[in-house]
Amino acid sequence: MVDYKKIGLVNTRAMFAKAVDGGYAIPAFNFNNMEQMQAIIMAAVETKSPVIMQVSRGARDYANQTLLRYMAEGAVEYAKELGCKHPEIVLHLDHGDSFETCKSCIDMGFSSVMIDGSSLPYDENVAVTKRVVEYAHQFDVTVEGELGVLAGVEDEVASEESHYTKPEEVIDFVTKTGVDSLAISIGTSHGAYKFTPEQCTVDPETGRLLPPPLAFDVLEAIEKKLPGFPIVLHGSSSVPQDAVDTINANGGNLKAAVGIPEEQLRKASKSAVCKINIDSDSRLAMTAAVRKHLAENPGHFDPRQYLKPARESMKQMYMHKIINVLGSNDKLIKQ
Ligand SMILES: [Zn+2]
Repeated sequence: MVDYKKIGLVNTRAMFAKAVDGGYAIPAFNFNNMEQMQAIIMAAVETKSPVIMQVSRGARDYANQTLLRYMAEGAVEYAKELGCKHPEIVLHLDHGDSFETCKSCIDMGFSSVMIDGSSLPYDENVAVTKRVVEYAHQFDVTVEGELGVLAGVEDEVASEESHYTKPEEVIDFVTKTGVDSLAISIGTSHGAYKFTPEQCTVDPETGRLLPPPLAFDVLEAIEKKLPGFPIVLHGSSSVPQDAVDTINANGGNLKAAVGIPEEQLRKASKSAVCKINIDSDSRLAMTAAVRKHLAENPGHFDPRQYLKPARESMKQMYMHKIINVLGSNDKLIKQ
């Protein structure tokens, strides 16, 4: 049993309370490798932002759960070396699929877990979420639950269609389970292809696809039911078109990738939404930089030569999200 507090991690409780009060959102960035981890920490330190580093099932399969846990411990020390005296770093399990998965992460030092029972019948979702909360809270680990189904694909999480969260269920769910935060479905979606062209309209000026707007009416109805309760948005990459263009101009073939416009995320950040998950934008930033570098430097074969610009590009993207979209810069509790 590893106590996450002993390795310098924090849970989400205080940072979410401050974010809901302050009208901003904490970034939750997925990580799978060292360069992503470094870029996340460099961006968080430079902007003085709290940050959630999250680990999906795909990341655990790719990089090994134990190794990722030690990387998070290293991330705390790295942040201090970069000059942040009191880093606020959460190590979070993204889309925990069972009580056992959540327990194994809690036991090895994660400070926060998500139990995703959203595809289960309501009563089963309540039961498994409650069980995880009872276990996690013994160790002061915070728990995110989910109500409603997002469309799209994220590692092992896939769904054909979305179902918005039902505002009439949220009080019952939160009361019965004791969760610390709730992921809801209001039209965000996993992956880089969030919407089909048929769901979008065409911007007459740029010719680009414009996705349907998020269901802010559902979000407002949920906020009315649960005033001040921390709300989470998954699948909130914006799929920057310049990254898509760079990939396509350098041998890639990404067709009609569409994300959530940043102005909608900016609006959501000011509400009770206090955690916004961003994964695809980091993948796009990294791939665009690697493709461009290798196209321009066909003789390079040292991975450091192309991973260095990839890391820098991810760092710039993370800083942009923190400062210009979520507003979590300069929000550390202790400077
Ligand atoms: Zn998700």
